[in-house]
Amino acid sequence: LTREGFSTVPNVKWDDVGGLDHLRRELRNYIVRPIKNPEIYKAFGANLETGFLLYGPPGCGKTLVLKAVANEAGANFIYIKGAEMLNKYVGESERAIRNLFQRARTCSPCILFFDEVDALTPRRGKEGDSVVDRLSNQFLAELDGGERRNVFVIGATNRPEAVDPAFLRPGRFGNIVYVPLPDADGRASILKANAKKKPIDPSVDLDAIAKMKCQDFSGADLANLVDKAIHVAVEEKFRSIEDDDITTDSSECTIKMAHFEQALS
Ligand code: ATP
Repeated sequence: LTREGFSTVPNVKWDDVGGLDHLRRELRNYIVRPIKNPEIYKAFGANLETGFLLYGPPGCGKTLVLKAVANEAGANFIYIKGAEMLNKYVGESERAIRNLFQRARTCSPCILFFDEVDALTPRRGKEGDSVVDRLSNQFLAELDGGERRNVFVIGATNRPEAVDPAFLRPGRFGNIVYVPLPDADGRASILKANAKKKPIDPSVDLDAIAKMKCQDFSGADLANLVDKAIHVAVEEKFRSIEDDDITTDSSECTIKMAHFEQALS
């Protein structure tokens, strides 16, 4: 579990993530390799002062993929939920933003991940002096302020149109990447990632399941489907042994195609 606002190196591995190949490549080039091989980037004079804005429907792996990036790079990961930060530090969110960037610098290399970033980057009014304007301005100042020193800033949103365009310039959240609902291959790969440590019967065809009734499923829906199939199997097991207290041989505990079908129905 990620505790909001705390820094840790997450334990998510790349094989926990299904699909998102394009995004993986981008993040490897802009975050993982610069952390691991800074001298190459320096030799080329590569500019790394940029952040990413990931947008798209909820539950498609935006947070998950950054945790895998942080894990591979051995970097700290700080997770912030925009709306919560706004509410928690009413009237003091400017200072909170400043402190946050300071904290990220002290535990660098660090990935500073803002979920629901649109709450912190509202379009500024003409006057420029309301509370939200001051917050936006402070955030912009932090994004621009001096060297990033191995702090990688990522924003995620389901509402990119609500982000003030000033945030989308190079050097700020300059790399804008759409993270869509997975296609059939992506869905199969997400199912496999979520099922890999589970006792799935070899007859289960996850590719076929991905094509069956999951057309509009997000990654989160697919993870939930695996959980549901497991619970269907557990229930069936208990029905077969009748008495919950009897300890039985667990070698027969596998998840079969029928369990997935029932979970989908
Ligand atoms: P939100 O916009 O709601 O913050 P998100 O895009 O950040 O959503 P995640 O929090 O990364 O989505 O995904 C939620 C959960 O769904 C993950 O913890 C994981 O169990 C599952 N999941 C989503 N996408 C994937 C994926 N590509 N591969 C494997 N699991 C996934």
